[in-house]
Amino acid sequence: MSYSISEIATHFSIRGEIEAIVPFGSGHINDTFHIKVTDPDLPGYLLQRVNHYVFENVPALMNNVQLVTDHLKKKLDETPGSNPENEVLTIVKTKGNQLFFRDADSNYWRMFLFLKDTKSYDHVLTEKQACEGGKAFGKFQLLLADLDATLLAETIPGFHNIAMRLGKLNKAVLADSKDRVKEVLPELRFITERVEKMTSILNLGEEGKLPLRIIHNDTKFNNILLDKHDHAQCVIDLDTVMPGYVAYDFGDAIRTIINTASEDEPDLSKINLNMPLFKAYAEGYFKSAHAFLTDIEVETLLIGVLLIPYMQGVRFLTDYIEGDVYYKTHFAGHNLQRTRAQFQLLRMLEEQYAILDQVIREISVTYKASSK
Ligand code: ADP
Ligand code: MG
Ligand code: MG
Repeated sequence: MSYSISEIATHFSIRGEIEAIVPFGSGHINDTFHIKVTDPDLPGYLLQRVNHYVFENVPALMNNVQLVTDHLKKKLDETPGSNPENEVLTIVKTKGNQLFFRDADSNYWRMFLFLKDTKSYDHVLTEKQACEGGKAFGKFQLLLADLDATLLAETIPGFHNIAMRLGKLNKAVLADSKDRVKEVLPELRFITERVEKMTSILNLGEEGKLPLRIIHNDTKFNNILLDKHDHAQCVIDLDTVMPGYVAYDFGDAIRTIINTASEDEPDLSKINLNMPLFKAYAEGYFKSAHAFLTDIEVETLLIGVLLIPYMQGVRFLTDYIEGDVYYKTHFAGHNLQRTRAQFQLLRMLEEQYAILDQVIREISVTYKASSK
């Protein structure tokens, strides 16, 4: 790097003297630094270098972040008992009033106010945490439900578009550049058998039956900041916020919460479903989201739960066939192992579908009854 982080920080409109700069957080996409200032009454800052290999249009991305945070703050301003400063990210602009700074090496930097006394966890361990997660992402969608989704740019085009992901897989299979297709015939059959079900959300959307909303698209638990009482305080990591269907966010959160094993578990017998955490997340989610969800959206939530591990498996398999060019792998066959673990999770979800469905039905009926 031909610059220092403190030099980058001076391009932003910060208050106070910089005391220390520390690398921060466990995010995998951006490089994050905590800028501490000497005055204890000032909040400090969070400086990030945005990964412009993953996000090709950073100006459009930052425009999305501004639209979304402005709207969230406006809505919370109208909500008694809310504290928009603490509950929504605040962009700190550059001294030239820009949303980002571009350094001499063409990197994009942006800054937010640092939210003090908060923490984030990589894994959901308790039902209380799962419930807080559901409430937070449900509230995020609720507050954005009246902002026109078409105002937002697609920061990663087709991110959750399964038809596009299957198209990429087909291309990789036809090219078969590493001669690996012969090893993955059972996985390809597994994918083909499920195409109709897995494209149903997309089709309902195209038929105009599902509303296109603003969704988060990266509903991992570590993208929520919790306060000192472990209550959800602020949804962060807004880089992938774009138009989509609510079932994608629901399925994305459940994919990791419900799995008793890791994403790349080699021993498939260890992959089971954590039903109490699923139920707690769903309860939290409906608490926030029941007010805007349409009947058909409720019907699609579980399809989202099946779809997201399926899509993740399709992406891992595509990368395996192409020779492991996208995901970092730690050993030969890692992407294939990841694919198999995702598909085992999907088999478990299919087996237990009736129970999962019952949970959702019971929760949604409670809210229907109480709204009458
Ligand atoms: P990535 O896309 O790399 O995951 P994030 O935006 O999620 O980047 O940030 C990484 C980590 O930094 C988060 O998991 C969280 O712990 C912390 N973080 C992000 N924004 C803030 C903030 N405004 N205040 C305090 N901590 C934050
Ligand atoms: Mg993150
Ligand atoms: Mg991110």
